[in-house]
Amino acid sequence: MSDTLLSFIPADPRWQPDRDAADRAVRALHALAPEDDGIKATWHDEIMFVDCGSRFDEVACPRCDAVLDKHWLGDRLSAVLTEKTLTVVVPCCGGEPSLNDLVYREPCGLARFDITVWNPGRSLLAESELRIVGVALGHPVRQIMAHY
Ligand SMILES: [Zn+2]
Repeated sequence: MSDTLLSFIPADPRWQPDRDAADRAVRALHALAPEDDGIKATWHDEIMFVDCGSRFDEVACPRCDAVLDKHWLGDRLSAVLTEKTLTVVVPCCGGEPSLNDLVYREPCGLARFDITVWNPGRSLLAESELRIVGVALGHPVRQIMAHY
């Protein structure tokens, strides 16, 4: 049995909601995915990489579209905790994007807060549904679908 996790993270990787806002977003998600196996909001002390599990394919440079080495990415993600910055110098073209703005195929992201829906029983949210969740949370959100 594999599990599908549909996670929602704030567009700003450092942003965190208060408990009431998180509860509102959880209720909004439960209405959008009524067959879920559970929905949990989690606050992180440090910025975490929210990945897409076995769906992870490749990551590319947002400036020149070169595919980036996964080991390089792993090292950069580890360095976030000690260096306190998301800005990286990419080896392909010398650009300095945020790790959060690399082109992840499938989508992944960085966050200090996430809401995860276990086995949502549906596919990705439409843009209009994502906006509902964002309004409930008080901050725009990105969605990440993962399989484990
Ligand atoms: Zn590049």
